[in-house]
Amino acid sequence: MTDQVRVRFAPSPTGYLHVGGLRTALYNYLFAKHHGGKFVLRIEDTDQARKVEGAIENLISTLEWAGIRYDEGPNREGAHGPYIQSERLAIYREHADRLVERGKAYLCFCTPERLEEVRQHQIKAKLNPAYDRHCRDLPLDEAERRQAQGERHVIRMKVPITGDMRFHDLIRGDVTISYDVLDDQVLVKSDGFPTYHLAVVVDDHLMEISHIIRGEEWLPSVPKHILLFQYFGWDVPKLAHLPLLLNPDRSKLSKRQGDVAVEDYRTKGYLKEAIVNFIALLGWNPGDEREIFTLDELIKEFSLERVGKAGAVFNVEKLNWLNFEHLRKKPDAEVLVMLKEHLDRSAVSKRFEDEYLLNVIRAMRERVTFVKDFVEKSPYFFRSPGEYESDVVKKRWQQETPARIRKLAEEFSRLRNPQKEDYEAALHRTAESLKINQRDLVHPVRLAVSGMGAGPGLYDILFILGKEETIRRMNSAIERLI
Ligand code: GLU
Repeated sequence: MTDQVRVRFAPSPTGYLHVGGLRTALYNYLFAKHHGGKFVLRIEDTDQARKVEGAIENLISTLEWAGIRYDEGPNREGAHGPYIQSERLAIYREHADRLVERGKAYLCFCTPERLEEVRQHQIKAKLNPAYDRHCRDLPLDEAERRQAQGERHVIRMKVPITGDMRFHDLIRGDVTISYDVLDDQVLVKSDGFPTYHLAVVVDDHLMEISHIIRGEEWLPSVPKHILLFQYFGWDVPKLAHLPLLLNPDRSKLSKRQGDVAVEDYRTKGYLKEAIVNFIALLGWNPGDEREIFTLDELIKEFSLERVGKAGAVFNVEKLNWLNFEHLRKKPDAEVLVMLKEHLDRSAVSKRFEDEYLLNVIRAMRERVTFVKDFVEKSPYFFRSPGEYESDVVKKRWQQETPARIRKLAEEFSRLRNPQKEDYEAALHRTAESLKINQRDLVHPVRLAVSGMGAGPGLYDILFILGKEETIRRMNSAIERLI
């Protein structure tokens, strides 16, 4: 084994990338990049029944979208390929045979019917269902003879009957698991495919993985894996099992309480920067109060020492806040591209000049969480108000308002190429000449041009809409509101 850090993300292509999977991928990536090591993507598709068409492509494109670039993996071959387990079947078979020869594994000819009988019996006797090791002591020559005759069989590993396995986990500390709870795990199924347990150990060794960083749900499998490493005579990589992801009610994160596919968040308009930042904080913290990080900052800061044992709560409010913060940090030009893409996809058919959209972006920046909010929170920049908020009308549009607004519209019409301050000055003049408070113009004008009672500064809105449109909307409100 080399001293280089080599880690892997080893998803099974069962459909979509789960947020827990993204966290595992991200932590591996951050750890690798922090240590100048390599991040490997390995596809664990030996369970053919769970395979989903298109899932590998989907996984890869989601990782790449998030900026988690693998150094070796499918379509990016390195010295340890192939990186798709179904293309490595001969390797597993050869390794399983090696264990059989060494007496560390055995052929098991038990039929599914027999196994089911044993199981029923154990359940009745209130024992934990486990293989009864019926074939464990079959003489090797007899097993080989039956195999040669084509008898269906699996290969099982020999797990010690008594004692326990102690190991160290970089996150969980020292762990002890008793062999009683372990079965003589199947390594090769009757269809010739390896199980996860064999393939993962063989590949982690052959791919020279230095650290295995993965979800806590794999912790109970560690003793089997360590035994296999030992049976082969290999070093065991360092282990780190990440804490569970929890719903806000502290149950295990599930689809029932919200989206769990990274793709769903992506289509909802979350920025990759926000998702990556959020996911990074699910189990890891920088040791101080900072919460906003870019991917590069995370690479610099990340360490396994700062990953906790306690379950991490998936809190969408926090994700929204991070989206707001990351969107706020983006340069105008970048937001412009996103806003244009959003407009292309949405029902807004009118075309807008870049300069116009940039003005909208500047005015609304501090008020939006998502790019779509530019349209949802200030629809009046994209179409004239269809309706006016009725409570605002009630409060702000009095009997004398139309005449005042008409007067103000006249004042506006005299302006030449008005800037923000010119609208402001014109409004002041009008209020003075009418001997009313400015408020009695400001609120109704806002209502007239936006249909709403709140938003960015009124003069920003007027400037962005422009003189013609402002006056048109004022006149139209006068007609429609009385
Ligand atoms: N294929 C396993 C999964 O889908 C990988 C577990 C591991 O990293 O060892 O989660």
